[in-house]
Amino acid sequence: MNLKQLFIKLCNIGVSSDKSDDENRKVFIVNLFCMVGLATTAIMGGTALVNGNLPLGLSLMVSSLVFLFGFVFQYRSGNTLISSVIIVYALMILLVYLVAAGGVNNTGPLWIFMFAPVTLYIHGLKRGSRDIILFLVLISLIMFIPGNPLLVAEYSQEFKLRLVYSFLTITFLSAIYEYSRAKAYSNLVEVSERYEELSKIDPLTQLSNRRDALNVLSYEVDRSEREGDIVSVAFLDLDYFKQINDNFGHDAGDQVLIKVSELLLDSVRKQDTVARWGGEEFFLIFPRTSLSDAYIIAEKLREIIAEFPFSYKEHAFTITTSVGISEINPGNDVEAQIDLADQSLYQAKALGRNRVEPSLRKSVAS
Ligand code: GH3
Ligand code: MG
Ligand code: MG
Repeated sequence: MNLKQLFIKLCNIGVSSDKSDDENRKVFIVNLFCMVGLATTAIMGGTALVNGNLPLGLSLMVSSLVFLFGFVFQYRSGNTLISSVIIVYALMILLVYLVAAGGVNNTGPLWIFMFAPVTLYIHGLKRGSRDIILFLVLISLIMFIPGNPLLVAEYSQEFKLRLVYSFLTITFLSAIYEYSRAKAYSNLVEVSERYEELSKIDPLTQLSNRRDALNVLSYEVDRSEREGDIVSVAFLDLDYFKQINDNFGHDAGDQVLIKVSELLLDSVRKQDTVARWGGEEFFLIFPRTSLSDAYIIAEKLREIIAEFPFSYKEHAFTITTSVGISEINPGNDVEAQIDLADQSLYQAKALGRNRVEPSLRKSVAS
């Protein structure tokens, strides 16, 4: 493993697929800043010690240990917030010390410019701004209170004022950058959630599509395994639907699909799912429902559709449906039970259509 790979690996400690992208980003940033802080302060502290500047060298070495502690703490506890607070406040104390003591040849204050971007990046706009105000108050108190014994270094009044002005400018620019970043991120999350929603919906009928139905079924089957009850499923196919298209046009067919979807949705219970499986075939999921109860529901749906007076332009017509149902008990092979409902649908078609056929067979999962 080369140095770059090791660095990336260390930055990714604690990043996991159970966390959201934003949480993982925070873990990564805390690791990154801990390591950069640790390395920078250790190198500078070592140099200061070699050059005989004991107070500066020791302060930097202590800071280095604090950054190391922040890294280990996040690794051990998984608590990103406390580690990020440790980093920001360690950095704040170090910078306040550098302003007060002056660092090497009074160059210590130059480091304060890193505080705004680092804090806003780690803590975000709201919390980061509070930290920056606290920092600004601390360094102003140290620099501007006349005769302050804490101020060891000597700075001219112009230097101190310009230091504060330029710090405020960098803070302002960093805040704009952080605001744009956070806004772009939340827009991205919104768009991807919208696409996620759309990917579950059939555009014509607005029902769940096959993919979403299978997800719902898998959730319901898991739940029924835990609770020891039964899930029933049904395939419902419109009879001679092709004739609607042939006789009245494709748009009439579309309107029928939309109306049938509404009738189905209005007639099932809240906990049931109605999905468009494809074409003119619908898939229904009835949680906590035995085959005999599913039969009663399916009969009701068949009657509601058969009795509905469909119309398109000047044409009035009725339409019938065939339904195949099966039940899924804990321990059953789910795919096989879906296939059995499909086979029952074809049985209903073969037996003359406009009827509900239950499947009495049970497949046991291997
Ligand atoms: P059966 O009773 O055996 O089910 O006969 P059917 O005519 O309903 O079945 P078939 O499979 O022969 O025809 C289904 C028709 O459904 C053919 C296809 O053009 C039509 N169809 C599929 N999807 C749509 C759609 O989104 N809109 C419209 N208008 N028609 C569709
Ligand atoms: Mg059909
Ligand atoms: Mg069909």
